[in-house]
Amino acid sequence: MRTKLVVGNWKMNGGLAANAALLTALASGWSGREDRMMAVCVPFPYLAQARERLQGTAIRWGAQDASPHPSGAYTGDVAAAMLAEFGCTYVIVGHSERRALHGESDETVAAKAKAVLAAGLTAIVCVGETLAEREGGRTEAVVERQLGAAIAVLGDSMVRSVVAYEPVWAIGTGRTATPEQAQAVHARLRGQLRAAGAGEVQVLYGGSVKGANAAALMRMPDIDGGLVGGASLDATEFLTIARA
Ligand code: PEP
Repeated sequence: MRTKLVVGNWKMNGGLAANAALLTALASGWSGREDRMMAVCVPFPYLAQARERLQGTAIRWGAQDASPHPSGAYTGDVAAAMLAEFGCTYVIVGHSERRALHGESDETVAAKAKAVLAAGLTAIVCVGETLAEREGGRTEAVVERQLGAAIAVLGDSMVRSVVAYEPVWAIGTGRTATPEQAQAVHARLRGQLRAAGAGEVQVLYGGSVKGANAAALMRMPDIDGGLVGGASLDATEFLTIARA
């Protein structure tokens, strides 16, 4: 039985005072469960604050991106080894907002995941189709291509990653994939992972997950948790999801 994992993606939200209140509320509301892990992926400048507030608790923390390069003349980028120095466990790579707004290709995402693993951290590799791709019947082909690029570069170390299936049309839109729609894609991804010797990798669902829909999603056999955007900024809502 795979442990469920619920990860908050704060995106570019927060502020020192608001973060302090949120992190304190999460730490006091979550004492940990054997079958479940919780983490928050915060903007880079707040990693020190996350570490200070969360170390010694059952909540882990991480970042939302990392450079594929170890160091050098890459102004504005952050190396995975730097994230490791701040006690990160997880680094999200290939979020659809980065693919769309920063032009990240499957190959770039795979290279970032490789750099994250090389720093001893866990990459959360995001995949997901756009609405046009879904309506064009290309969902499986798109997500298998995206995951395949990561598997090709990571090889055996894919087992040290997490995959997040996030249909682009469900992110921040309030429109969630039904549990059955999500499960169908997760089952495909599971098959692809299994064929690569990585069948036990956790596959999270993301896209307008809320307290009200989390339990139905989590009950699906191939959904191992959630990657949660907007709802992770509200402690009560996020804790409800984590307990679902
Ligand atoms: C996300 O940012 O990964 C996400 C799934 O966002 P939301 O939960 O707001 O749809």
